[in-house]
Amino acid sequence: MSEMNPYDMLRVGIYGGTFAPIHNGHVEAAKAFMEQMKLDYLFIIPSYLPPHKQIDAADDPLLRLKMCELAFEGVDGVVISDVEIKRGGKSYTYDTVKELMRPDTRLFLLLGTDMVLTFDKWYRSEDLFKMCYPVYVRREKDPLITNRIVSKITEYYEKYGVMIRRVVTEPFVVSSTEIRAAIKDGKDISHLVPKKVADFILERGLYK
Ligand code: ATP
Repeated sequence: MSEMNPYDMLRVGIYGGTFAPIHNGHVEAAKAFMEQMKLDYLFIIPSYLPPHKQIDAADDPLLRLKMCELAFEGVDGVVISDVEIKRGGKSYTYDTVKELMRPDTRLFLLLGTDMVLTFDKWYRSEDLFKMCYPVYVRREKDPLITNRIVSKITEYYEKYGVMIRRVVTEPFVVSSTEIRAAIKDGKDISHLVPKKVADFILERGLYK
């Protein structure tokens, strides 16, 4: 097939994570990603088993998927995908990108700071650099981390010839770990997650 005109190509974003639970940091980053990379569609993909961290024994991936649906209800162009949950086993982004690749599509992969700093340790990251455009978003405000990110990005550029794109937005500083801990302590989390997600967590008694 001859090369497509780049203007005719679909622009599709991938934002994967454990999302246990999905929070405002994820939602804000996803929206900025869609807007700044001019995405036609954004796939939000909760992992089945994250390869890099332990997940709670009581975890139910379908509940994490449901919370993603609630968080993005009514947001045009966002597709909540169960590809990783359906596939089962360890959720390698390489497998997911391979599954979503199309000749008429450019894939953009969103990475938060922690993920961009460790991207070269991911399964088949060298291939991933060729299969999609990695994009990073800051999740913290610590200026000391800026230097670490810049030198990592330079390292990737020298090693793989790929420059990581950047989504620029005011970070919403929060983690799922922090939210689970707050719930255990009986604290209010309504300012940290979308309202429908907060109601769902409460109704189902999750993360207690
Ligand atoms: P946990 O605390 O359970 O490790 P987490 O808050 O880091 O979870 P994940 O589901 O592991 O959330 O993150 C999925 C993706 O979202 C990763 O690329 C991560 O860097 C990014 N991310 C997480 N929190 C934020 C945030 N506050 N702002 C922007 N990106 C974020």
